[in-house]
Amino acid sequence: MISLNNDTRKLLEQLGPMAADTQVLIALYDAEDRLQFANPAFRSAFFIATDQQPLWADIMRCNYSLKRGTVIAAVNFEEWLRSTQSRRGKVSFRAFETDLHDGRWLWMTETVRENGWMLCIASDITRIRANERDLRQDRDVAIKAAQTDELTGVANRRYVMARLQELLGVPAAADQTLGCLAIFDIDNFKYINDSLGHHAGDMILRDFAGLIQAQVRRTDCFGRVGGEEFVLVMPRTSTDEAASIIHCMLAIVRDSRPLPDPSDFSYTFSAGLAVARGGDMLAEVYRRADLALYGAKVAGRDRLQINIDSPSEGKR
Ligand code: GH3
Ligand code: MG
Ligand code: MG
Repeated sequence: MISLNNDTRKLLEQLGPMAADTQVLIALYDAEDRLQFANPAFRSAFFIATDQQPLWADIMRCNYSLKRGTVIAAVNFEEWLRSTQSRRGKVSFRAFETDLHDGRWLWMTETVRENGWMLCIASDITRIRANERDLRQDRDVAIKAAQTDELTGVANRRYVMARLQELLGVPAAADQTLGCLAIFDIDNFKYINDSLGHHAGDMILRDFAGLIQAQVRRTDCFGRVGGEEFVLVMPRTSTDEAASIIHCMLAIVRDSRPLPDPSDFSYTFSAGLAVARGGDMLAEVYRRADLALYGAKVAGRDRLQINIDSPSEGKR
């Protein structure tokens, strides 16, 4: 039985009826990005029936196909989704302007707890500072471009490294585990490029980014850091948890057949995993993951190697 103090009880008693009446849009998503609560104002703006608890991606996909809800200025919805998901819920607070097909403009805020649950609160700002709207939208497009890898649509080096730096900045005792860092590198990519051409190489990079991004939990951050090298930052994740996620990714990529010609073409990648601990510098964690990646390559590729550098060993 959960015991609530008086203030919390009073808040909850008032909040329920108020959420039902208010014009403000309120929603709560769990760590899997499934809607767990939405007030009537939110449900009506995004066309969600009272008994439905859809995934955020499905709300967006359904509304996009019916040209309602959020205005999404993208020709390819799945590409838009991939790039948006690579940045959704990765920071503890975010606010942005968004417009709806019904002509309304919303100021949307996203507050994310450590456990991955997200509170969304949006207010109608249709009549506020409309004259500066183009300028603000241009700024948002520029910010998105500065955080996104152009070829694959996932987060870019700058964005994913900033998330890693943020993870290392969490107050923690020295050697306390903060999470995991994985580096992924596609196997024999130079050979693929040389034998099938650069265009096929690019298709494989996009295939890889899409397959992995689809497996990434909302609290994790995945991005392309260079050529055929990618990084996955997993806050508050044990090595075992991280390893099981990565083994699943290895299998999915192994099964992929991304090219029309040759249609039976398959590829693999290798992964190096390191634990991020309190007191670690970014370069140190990265070096440990990179060493593990090198080990995975030497051991035959298409595998995960974990850097088991224990806190008492090493250079500290
Ligand atoms: P290993 O299994 O050891 O990782 O071998 P590899 O051939 O993948 O490694 P290497 O680092 O030698 O090759 C990476 C290649 O990636 C070289 C470069 O031509 C290619 N590359 C880098 N960026 C891009 C890109 O944006 N598109 C394409 N198509 N190729 C790229
Ligand atoms: Mg490489
Ligand atoms: Mg490679």
